[in-house]
Amino acid sequence: AKEMGKNTYQFYSIDMNMAHQMSHLNLENALRFALERQQLQLWYQPQFDLATGQLAGLECLIRWRHPQLGLISPLEFIPIAEENGLIIPIGDWVLNEACQCVQRWRQQGFVVPQIAVNLSVRQFRPDLLLSQVTQALQNSGLPAHVLELEVTESLIMTRINEAIAILQQLKQLGVKVAIDDFGTGHSSLSQLKNLPLDTLKIDRSFIEGIPEQADDVVIAETIVILAQKLGLNVVAEGVETQAQMQVLRDMGCACAQGYFYSKPLSAPDMENMLISMAKQVTEVY
Ligand code: C2E
Ligand code: MG
Ligand code: MG
Ligand code: MG
Repeated sequence: AKEMGKNTYQFYSIDMNMAHQMSHLNLENALRFALERQQLQLWYQPQFDLATGQLAGLECLIRWRHPQLGLISPLEFIPIAEENGLIIPIGDWVLNEACQCVQRWRQQGFVVPQIAVNLSVRQFRPDLLLSQVTQALQNSGLPAHVLELEVTESLIMTRINEAIAILQQLKQLGVKVAIDDFGTGHSSLSQLKNLPLDTLKIDRSFIEGIPEQADDVVIAETIVILAQKLGLNVVAEGVETQAQMQVLRDMGCACAQGYFYSKPLSAPDMENMLISMAKQVTEVY
């Protein structure tokens, strides 16, 4: 029985591996058509100013609505798109779609101070990125200062000289730059000082332990102080409870986003939220 169990296990694990590889191949093929078949969607998660409670901005997060598999997470298909280069047209679509959608909301009278767009390391090329961003702003009419690009610290630190040049050019366009998942990569603090950045986003893994785990509270507070001293905005990611929100607000963290406020919403649901927030404002006055 033991022998059989072993065989069964081996067979099963080979089978699973094949299934995994096949689905990877299928996914890769299907992803090639996802753009033209309009299966990609942007969802939006609001970010709030902790001092005033006002909407500070939105982060757009891509989803793939596959006809058979349903809604697929970016964690599953962005790595595939990065491997095969599809991230370039997909990233371009994301930039244009986000700028257009938010500019439409602004023209309808909704106050959306900022839209944050995630960038892949593959997009972070001087020849490519600047013309893509310029085009997206021109096509939509979105003011440059409303757009914030999110990059990771590893992306910046591994190609520091190229990164500095690109960041400086983005700054000249008037676009903002945030470091996503801050604290999980390997930032050199001396480099950080020299980079033209606007925002640090405290990684969700540090927010998770607040308020119970003292070390997480200390790390979050240290990042908040670092941001303040460097003159940067700071956003806490993954805020799920009121207790977390209060601790972050009391330590002077500027902004927060997370399930406590709202999960990422489809564009129509986001628009409904903007409508109900606008109603609340008019009811107060
Ligand atoms: P990220 O940029 O760090 O985005 C935050 C992730 O945390 C999102 O997952 C969001 O849905 C999730 N999240 C937000 N609040 C909470 C919370 O309170 N609790 C928990 N547990 N999770 C929360 P999502 O949408 O699955 O995106 C995952 C990652 O995929 C993103 O991490 C980003 O790195 C990447 N990504 C998403 N959209 C794009 C895109 O358009 N382009 C590129 N290159 N990458 C993208
Ligand atoms: Mg992000
Ligand atoms: Mg993040
Ligand atoms: Mg991330």
